[in-house]
Amino acid sequence: MFVVSKKSELAEAISRFREEKMQYVGFVPTMGFLHKGHGSLIDQCKKENGLCVCDIFVNPLQFNENKDYVNYPTDIAKDREYLEKLGCQILYIPLKEDIYPSGHIPLKYDFGYLETVMEGKHRPGHFQGVAEVVRILFEIVKPDRAYFGEKDFQQLKIIENLVKQFDFQIEIVSCPIIREPDGLALSSRNVRLTEHERKIAPFIFQQLIWCKEHFIKFSPSDLKKHIQLQFSRHSEFSLEYIEFADRLDLKITKHWDDAKSVGAFIAVRLGNVRLIDNIILF
Ligand code: AMP
Repeated sequence: MFVVSKKSELAEAISRFREEKMQYVGFVPTMGFLHKGHGSLIDQCKKENGLCVCDIFVNPLQFNENKDYVNYPTDIAKDREYLEKLGCQILYIPLKEDIYPSGHIPLKYDFGYLETVMEGKHRPGHFQGVAEVVRILFEIVKPDRAYFGEKDFQQLKIIENLVKQFDFQIEIVSCPIIREPDGLALSSRNVRLTEHERKIAPFIFQQLIWCKEHFIKFSPSDLKKHIQLQFSRHSEFSLEYIEFADRLDLKITKHWDDAKSVGAFIAVRLGNVRLIDNIILF
């Protein structure tokens, strides 16, 4: 695996590959502390492209809480080993200055409605920061395909929108959520849970499963109230939101027959850790 930290070196390595091999370039952007969720994106990328490029960059612009940024876990040595094992060919670990040179002024993005609900509403500025780093990375890597996890479903919608707005010739490939055997969605942040919190964390997925199995007997607003009640009975959890939304445009579901496919989306604080998850209801 070729490891680079300068964008000029990266661009050179990728264009060399393109000239020689005439194959597709796939890209997996990450913030590191890799787990099998990231691994599934790399696997998919490897399957569909001649070259698999991954990057590790903890993007300061997308953290709306400095505490979360400062505490974000990193382990570059372990990540390198994992990526090597998965057969990733190029790893880009940019210096902050390479992405945001001094005096850098981020663009202002207009995602309209998409930025006003769920993560957009609860994490002000988050998607502006995500869009900025992904736009810059797309301009450096110029991939044919880029891989994103459905774990961050709203992010996926934002990226699809970004690609349209900027007319990037990049296919966005979405990959299913990878979970622990007890249902907890894999996340780099899980390591920050205490032993007790980790033990009870699958409660979040259990509530989503409950929604999937029982939604038909409730109206969306009654189901929401039911889930809010369940969380209020467990003082360790602080439910930020539970929403049911159209998986196409994230419009909030008022009646189940409003949309062809509806997902349940949840954000919960457990101790010092904020966890998100979602499930397809139908
Ligand atoms: P992150 O490093 O958390 O920014 O995530 C990098 C990419 O991995 C994003 O596209 C995430 O949606 C995806 N990802 C993170 N966790 C999972 C998971 N449990 N299953 C599938 N994809 C994931």
